[in-house]
Amino acid sequence: MTAVEYVRSCAPMILGPNQFRHFYRGGGGIQRLHGQPPTATDMPEDWIASTTTRFGAARQGLSELPDGRLLRDAIAQDPIGWLGSEHLDVAGGEFDLLVKLIDAGQRLIVHAHPDREFATRHLGCRHGKTEAWIVLATENPEPLAFLGFRHHVDSDTMQDWVAGQDVEAMLGALNAVPIAAGDAILVPAGIPHAIGAGVLIAELQEPTDFSVVLEWKGFDLDGAVDGHLGLGYPLALQCVDRSEWSTDRLARLWGPADDGSAIARLMPTGADPFFRAERIRAGALLDPSVAVLIGTRGSGSIRFAGGEEFPFERGQTAIIPHTAGSAAVHGDLEFIRCRPPGPVLAVASIPTREVPDDRSEPDQSAKTRQPAPLPDRRRRGGSRRCRHRVTGNGSCDSGAFPVRCWRSAAPSDVVRHHQAR
Ligand SMILES: [Zn+2]
Repeated sequence: MTAVEYVRSCAPMILGPNQFRHFYRGGGGIQRLHGQPPTATDMPEDWIASTTTRFGAARQGLSELPDGRLLRDAIAQDPIGWLGSEHLDVAGGEFDLLVKLIDAGQRLIVHAHPDREFATRHLGCRHGKTEAWIVLATENPEPLAFLGFRHHVDSDTMQDWVAGQDVEAMLGALNAVPIAAGDAILVPAGIPHAIGAGVLIAELQEPTDFSVVLEWKGFDLDGAVDGHLGLGYPLALQCVDRSEWSTDRLARLWGPADDGSAIARLMPTGADPFFRAERIRAGALLDPSVAVLIGTRGSGSIRFAGGEEFPFERGQTAIIPHTAGSAAVHGDLEFIRCRPPGPVLAVASIPTREVPDDRSEPDQSAKTRQPAPLPDRRRRGGSRRCRHRVTGNGSCDSGAFPVRCWRSAAPSDVVRHHQAR
């Protein structure tokens, strides 16, 4: 590869669709966003800038760049260019974000996702699947989201609902929350949820495809086979938050009201350990950062400090590498900028302690799922922070940890090593 090709291999890029069939209806809303006639009925999701495979798949789910490479491979070839050295030094060479467009042509199933502690312990992955929804458009006169149980539900009751597929009882036990275009809602791992029909969202999430399915009756899905992550329901259901979600508690999941500024934060602070999202308008000055963009209104351009002009418009999606640098936004353009968590928060929120056996009691699940507290050894002795560098292939150059850190090592070992207290 010549120097010029190398530079181009890590540049802002418009992404093509990354869609495949799902067990629920939808897709027209995504076409509408692209300015196309809404004819699709079984392509309800577009996985944008994905380095995540569908659960159990070897390749499905991964995004291809316009030059034919998988984004996952491109980042592995040049992690500093894509992610920036600060991200690599602190959080490793993984793009720890997945963004989707989801068009709910029908109400989605009731489901929940494991948190990081559960995933680390039972699924061999340091990421759970905390997610967030940014409502882009609604086709339903009364758009709804179903989010969290209205009252505490005991374990036996929930197991009976799932085993008997008592959908009416499950839905009746959930908060049915009116939503509107512009809402940004954090969906913490564990909380049971479903998106109502006729809603188009941009979804940010941790980069996994871990779902525990509580409802499958009437869908082209066999929950008894595919709904429990291969763990069996008695264990899988332990990741579900059965606590009461009051109105006040739910309100903390909503992001701040849009103040119309050039860079408007969308997420509540509880999202900080998992991802960041902002609504960007003309006049914004953007700091260098890897980012996934979704054009939501108008057209214009993003001018990077090096002089490159990147035209962008409603309906387009793009990946921006860190190396593209700072940028200014021009024209009648509005887009959502989705980013991984800030580097310090990314590491601080990775579980490094043993998880108690019983996560199912109310006092365990009643809290909002926040990251595990840091072990005492990290809080002490700040001057001894690891100074090792992560090399281009993702391994640590200290020699004390001769593995490809974020690809083949046990996550907790890598975290402990790089925290090096
Ligand atoms: Zn979900």
